Amino acid sequence: MSSQNMLLPQQVKIVEVGPRDGLQNEATPISAADKVQLIERLADAGISYIESGSFVSPKWVPQMATSTEVFQTIKRKAEVTYAALTPNMKGYEAAIAVNADEVAIFAAASESFSQKNINCSIEESIERFSPIIADAKKQNIKVRGYVSCVVGCPYEGDIPAEQVAMVAEKLIKMGCYEVSLGDTVGVGTPASVTKMLQAVSSRVPVAQLAVHFHDTYGQALTNIYAALQCGVKVVDSAIAGLGGCPYAKGASGNVATEDVVYLLNGLNIKTDINFEKLLQAGWFISEKLGKAPISKVSTAYLAQQ
Ligand SMILES: [Zn+2]
Repeated sequence: MSSQNMLLPQQVKIVEVGPRDGLQNEATPISAADKVQLIERLADAGISYIESGSFVSPKWVPQMATSTEVFQTIKRKAEVTYAALTPNMKGYEAAIAVNADEVAIFAAASESFSQKNINCSIEESIERFSPIIADAKKQNIKVRGYVSCVVGCPYEGDIPAEQVAMVAEKLIKMGCYEVSLGDTVGVGTPASVTKMLQAVSSRVPVAQLAVHFHDTYGQALTNIYAALQCGVKVVDSAIAGLGGCPYAKGASGNVATEDVVYLLNGLNIKTDINFEKLLQAGWFISEKLGKAPISKVSTAYLAQQ
């Protein structure tokens, strides 16, 4: 191993959030059949964890109305985890009914964001998930936690690293096996991200942390590199950079999986992902959405076709 790579992990797991976090922020309706095809293509490319839908009222998120059909239709691979976001008990029950392998819950690190988005305090929002966690434990279903606004908040600005650490620790203590730290606004830089990760990992083992970056300010890849140097081995990303940014119209949201995998390949970090098949999955869904992939790597490869 070269000295340059001493601080980097040898292997990274990609958590693909495109079919859920990505598509739910895309206005063009995508059919259940096309979502199924996207998920199967991603699994075929070697992605081992796919957040495949959300069980939420279709009134709130019309794009996710087909999640039941999607989960019932995908041809599953034994080695792939097909997870669902479950905002409440009703959603959790619907996810269990279609055999979601894992479920995910969420909280904000910002009090104002929590109040404005889900009308309750951070504390109350986490408390609301305890019946889900209790039942999931009984049924042996793993629960993943998301924390949003881990660096900045659209209402409050900077978020203290210590506050993020407290929220992450609470989710782990409640029973989440992993917490994904989300820079929802995409304002972080390696300095603020490293500071935040140091604070969180003083309370939660880094092996239980994942990072979720948005590229709104063009910092996602460099923030991922900083997170890898802090020992993080799980990275959330969305194929073709699906999903815009609800706080800045026209801006990019989720970092593109293609860009992350290109970075990891270049660093000689193992992912077990077939890059060519990954690119094709991105082109498939971008065509269905009638737009170009928000991935510089994908755009560069497309130009060579
Ligand atoms: Zn996201």
